[in-house]
Amino acid sequence: MRHISLMAGIMLAVLSCTMENPLLTESKLPYGAPPFDKIRNEHYMPAFEQGIARAKAEIDAIVANPAAPTFENTIEALENAGQALDRISGIFYNLLEADTDDEMQQIAEDISPKMTEYEMYVSLNEPLFRRIKAVWEQRDSLGLDPDQYKLLVDTYQDFARSGANLSPADKETYGKYEEELSLLELEYGKHVLAATNAFTLHLTEEAQLAGLPGFVRESAAEAAKEKGLEGWVFDLSYPSYGPFMKYSTDRELKRQMYMAYNTKAVGGENDNRDIVRKIVDLRIKIARILGYETYADYATEDRMAKTPAAVNALIDKLMAPSLPAARQEVAGILAFARENGFEDEVLQPWDFSYWSERYKDAHYALNDTLLKPYFRLEDCIDAVFGLAGKLYGLRFEERSDIPGYHKDVKVFDVKDEDGKHLALFYADFFPRASKRGGAWMTEFRGQSIVDGVERRPFISLVTNFTKPTAQSPSLLTHDELTTLLHEFGHSLHGMMAEGRYESQTGTNVARDFVELPSQIMENWAYEPEFLQGFARHYQTGAPLPGELIAKVEAAKNYLAAYSQVRQLQFGILDMAWHSRTSLPEADVPSFEKAVLAPAAVMPDVPECCISTSFSHIFAGGYSAGYYSYKWAEVLEADAFSLFQEKGIFNREVARSFRDNILSKGSTEDEAVLYRRFRGHDPQPEALLHKLGIPETESL
Ligand SMILES: [Zn+2]
Repeated sequence: MRHISLMAGIMLAVLSCTMENPLLTESKLPYGAPPFDKIRNEHYMPAFEQGIARAKAEIDAIVANPAAPTFENTIEALENAGQALDRISGIFYNLLEADTDDEMQQIAEDISPKMTEYEMYVSLNEPLFRRIKAVWEQRDSLGLDPDQYKLLVDTYQDFARSGANLSPADKETYGKYEEELSLLELEYGKHVLAATNAFTLHLTEEAQLAGLPGFVRESAAEAAKEKGLEGWVFDLSYPSYGPFMKYSTDRELKRQMYMAYNTKAVGGENDNRDIVRKIVDLRIKIARILGYETYADYATEDRMAKTPAAVNALIDKLMAPSLPAARQEVAGILAFARENGFEDEVLQPWDFSYWSERYKDAHYALNDTLLKPYFRLEDCIDAVFGLAGKLYGLRFEERSDIPGYHKDVKVFDVKDEDGKHLALFYADFFPRASKRGGAWMTEFRGQSIVDGVERRPFISLVTNFTKPTAQSPSLLTHDELTTLLHEFGHSLHGMMAEGRYESQTGTNVARDFVELPSQIMENWAYEPEFLQGFARHYQTGAPLPGELIAKVEAAKNYLAAYSQVRQLQFGILDMAWHSRTSLPEADVPSFEKAVLAPAAVMPDVPECCISTSFSHIFAGGYSAGYYSYKWAEVLEADAFSLFQEKGIFNREVARSFRDNILSKGSTEDEAVLYRRFRGHDPQPEALLHKLGIPETESL
């Protein structure tokens, strides 16, 4: 090797440059784990560029194939195209959230147009769609397995739902609609923000602060100082508005705040009323051109619900008993308020937050500091791992030889009951400047089988729990324990995946189904049998007292019916706007009031309007989808009731949950999977029962 020519030397140098990019070479680590210790920022851009080039070449090869389109050479080939790019994106975009810096933010900005360009290269590729459609047309004579059949139908639908089937003229119209819509959604969001920022409540007399605790006064004084003002400033951002409404005893000021909050973007320079109508109109047109009767039909089609009728039926079933129960709850708060000095006959909406908080203080006083000493982080983690052991036989072995992406990250080899490797699990618990807030589960790699070789998943769980110090351990609140269980539930969904095609495995399921595995785990946080198995006072070693657990449980369902009605109102309004076949005659506030009147629990305030600042459905991705929150709650309540019936550690129920739900991803229709586990369709009664809402009204 010493007698190397100049030419060969250059080639070797070029080659070794690529070889040194750990994002572009096969990992030598166990299970092919990402070599986080070798990845540096300068590796991303060249890796993305190469990844995109390779992915495009793979798409081109599918299109250029002279053989007639088959499931293998088209659908499966498309599923497997772009794997290098997926691997790079999986690492980059996850670290962009969990361990980022300015350079990575810049890379994200630079790469975004190139990624969009690649996505369009696939989704607008007409010859590619012709091949997909040719296979789809023969779908019933191909002898496909159920997961293959579903992959074929889903692939075809993805393209069709983005207009691939339209005539050239209709494609142009559709493109125009989509473009107009995205501009309007953007404008809507800007108006909500501007309207929120436009209002402040400036107070200069201490007497006006009656009821407000010290921390609320301090941040209001801080806000005033920032604006160069004397006194105190409150605004409509939640950290300012929420506590003001909760604690202030000044009814008139609360009324002013409430009115400002609930008339956002109604009139004035940030008026959204006309934009709502335009957005609804465009969505009607989009649904029409794609062949759907309404936008709600289009939006629900690829979810578990499948039809607006199924969504409305769920809403109705929950609403019927919740409405009288919510009215009773409000009556209870009013009675309490009157006993405590409230002099009016009715509670106005701006009175409610204050009096419901006082009621809660009086009946369900529960302080975080009472519970925290029992929830040492290490004990909680052991308990959660132990729960996965009890239910599914999983074991977690820490692997110090596999690098994490930060020194705080712990890597576990997850072993199945029979000792088989199931997944790598990256646990990243503590806050740092490079991590965004909140908690989430994600994957660096999903489970798949490619060319007969199985790839087990790399799952990551990220939280922001307080870091332990030499003097004090990390202690979780009960909420944080619940969060840990929630994200761990998503993690199990990812870890136990047993499919073939990555787009169908793990958490790649319908949006109204994806929260079932996570929300069901939250239930264990309220089970004495689970809690008493591990919760010990970190100083005295005393077990968690039963009456504290009972208090947590009682507090959980406080105002359950009222909160449920509020959520259902949003769902009803969302479905009403998106089930139109033409724009309503009435103006936006009148339409909204007519829709919501039957579900009212509080006196109507004529000027108020939700639709002008309902960003979830008019600026975000939840149009005809707000119901998903309740849908998921029904699923988990109904699913967990089987554990309650047979025992919360029952292995048979767990086995069935694993076989029918956790391992299946979306290899089959989620509604079918659910029925196979539970023996029936999701029953709203289970959620009512869980929330303590009587099924038949007893007035
Ligand atoms: Zn979740």
